[in-house]
Amino acid sequence: MNVEDYVGEVLGQRGHPNSFPGELVLPDDLVVAFSALFVAGEKEAREYGCNLIYEESRSELSRSRRYVGDMNSCPIRTMMHWENCADVHCHPAASIGDVDGYSPHSMEDFLYFSEQTHKPLFIRFVVSHDRIYAAVYRKGHTLYDAQGIDELRGRLAFEIGQYFKSHCPVGDDERLEAIMKEQEKARLVGEDVNDAAARVVIEYKRRTPGLGEFTAEATTRACKQVAARYRFGFYARSGTYTLARVD
Ligand SMILES: [Zn+2]
Repeated sequence: MNVEDYVGEVLGQRGHPNSFPGELVLPDDLVVAFSALFVAGEKEAREYGCNLIYEESRSELSRSRRYVGDMNSCPIRTMMHWENCADVHCHPAASIGDVDGYSPHSMEDFLYFSEQTHKPLFIRFVVSHDRIYAAVYRKGHTLYDAQGIDELRGRLAFEIGQYFKSHCPVGDDERLEAIMKEQEKARLVGEDVNDAAARVVIEYKRRTPGLGEFTAEATTRACKQVAARYRFGFYARSGTYTLARVD
């Protein structure tokens, strides 16, 4: 069903109390706007995002201004009113070292639902290249469990870290040495040492065969686990503008 109809039925008529639609269809202008966030984010190796607000009189989702984040997160402002029933942010890929890694929601993205649990409905969209994903929280149905999600976060980070360590063309010592060398150079010219370290890590991530795809696959598996365990709706784009629910 159309995502704006879904939002209208939940907010206006308390519809869909304990189930999620099989698919959500996005209006063209949202798809275009989401894609633009990814293009901007991939160019600068940082996440861009915005709030989505349901305009009842027009039965439409409107967008807030853009928020600018860093390579791992985007500081989208929390709005307390119910009409702010969704948000979107992009996940850059090759620019942060995840070549061909178009990942869905991080476990942190699920943890940030804690700020939205008073609302009847909250949809968090993630866009990465030609993929659009949605995670849907429904008050009274979703069993939000920060501790459980955080455990999955730890396990996923470990799994991805292990892949990186065992497939990176250089060992831990050599990588650490390269990071320290780059930081020393940064210090001499007054640059941020953390940025310098990140640059080196990104370069090694890029040179690690299959890391991006592995990260996207492992993250998708974790999203499915969260959705099944805690009753979130989890969607991935299947057709042009249609997000199909993934079980
Ligand atoms: Zn994210």
